Amino acid sequence: MNHPFLKAVPVIEKLEKANFEAYFVGGSVRNYLLQREIEDIDIATSATPEEVKRIFHQTVDLGIEHGTVLVLFENMTYEITTFRTEAEYKDFRRPKGVTFIRSLEEDLRRRDFTMNAIAMDKNGKIIDPFAGKRAILKREIVTVGSAEARFKEDALRMMRAVRFVSQLQFTIEENTKRALIEYGYLLTKIAIERIANEFEKLLIGEGSVQALRLLVETRLHHHLPGLAEKGDGIIRMTNYQLDKLSLDELWTLLLFSCEISVINVEKILRKWKLSLKQIKQVKLLLSSLHNRLHNEWTKEQLYRTGRENIEKVERLYCVITNRNFSSIFKWLSQYDRLPIKERSELDANGKDLMEWLNQKGGPWLKQLLAEIETSVVEGNLANRKEVIKEWVRKCNRS
Ligand code: ATP
Ligand code: MG
Repeated sequence: MNHPFLKAVPVIEKLEKANFEAYFVGGSVRNYLLQREIEDIDIATSATPEEVKRIFHQTVDLGIEHGTVLVLFENMTYEITTFRTEAEYKDFRRPKGVTFIRSLEEDLRRRDFTMNAIAMDKNGKIIDPFAGKRAILKREIVTVGSAEARFKEDALRMMRAVRFVSQLQFTIEENTKRALIEYGYLLTKIAIERIANEFEKLLIGEGSVQALRLLVETRLHHHLPGLAEKGDGIIRMTNYQLDKLSLDELWTLLLFSCEISVINVEKILRKWKLSLKQIKQVKLLLSSLHNRLHNEWTKEQLYRTGRENIEKVERLYCVITNRNFSSIFKWLSQYDRLPIKERSELDANGKDLMEWLNQKGGPWLKQLLAEIETSVVEGNLANRKEVIKEWVRKCNRS
């Protein structure tokens, strides 16, 4: 067994010593079987949250009503969740109530996909009542039990399915796929933040091209904000090389491919409940990208856009125009050669200007500073106090 699990074995042993059952479950076991990197380790146990908290000293309640306690143990955290079933579902969303149980198999039965319903004991023995290993071998996503029933219980699982297609580059088993097509409309019942969370994982996954195509094929995109009519645009996006792009670049490329104009970006991304910071960033990237597609960078634009975003916009430009990334270096070195990178680096400030011209502050000051800034950036005026002073005086005279 590999390293992250080894460190976690004493956690299981502590639970067992207190006469409870405990197993590794969920994504960590799936990724272990796939020989993929393991991010966080989830443990399922027959102990109730209260019992877990009695056994471990450092714990944080993490959705205790769902039975999850976060345990800090030897500098690592583990999510320990009590075996549970989910009683009837309400509104296709969250379970009405969870019932803690003492049976591992029942706990595995309520999980979404067979590949996620495998448990492993502390010795590495696999408990796999729903043939999850077979699905992993076939690289297939299959619901535990009836796909229809499972998607009706919790529609988020449909987005999770497509997200896993992207993350793992698996395909979706036929019945499961049919149910995606039939029950996609239930996504409207799910909080958009949870959908966005899955969608962003989809965007950055290695198999995003397959996943985006599947999204359109199953028509799930009909239920995503701003994308309902954008099937062709989403497909257009999949013709680009997506694997070098970061999340904000991917959002930008999606909007670009869907021919969503800059003025509509905010309205749509607000519906997705992205943060204002993220919305502002995508808006800036999209408008700079449109600009770049028609023109080369001017010094002024390089200066206003900043190094990090020049790189992003230029990368998008290269992806869209199917060029290699060499122009990124060219423009970054032009940026690096700019005489100043921000206004505070100007060798003159508002106080200087007022003094030199013997005038009180006012709108003129801001305007003159902006002119000086532009002239310096464009290389028409040296960034030296004496030279700027001379220039200002001359301007004032004429
Ligand atoms: P990741 O690698 O992204 O963490 P994961 O499979 O661990 O993937 P989590 O969201 O961390 O996904 O959930 C942990 C486990 O809980 C899943 O493997 C699955 O067994 C179960 N699970 C999560 N969400 C659902 C859901 N909506 N319905 C049923 N089971 C779920
Ligand atoms: Mg996980």
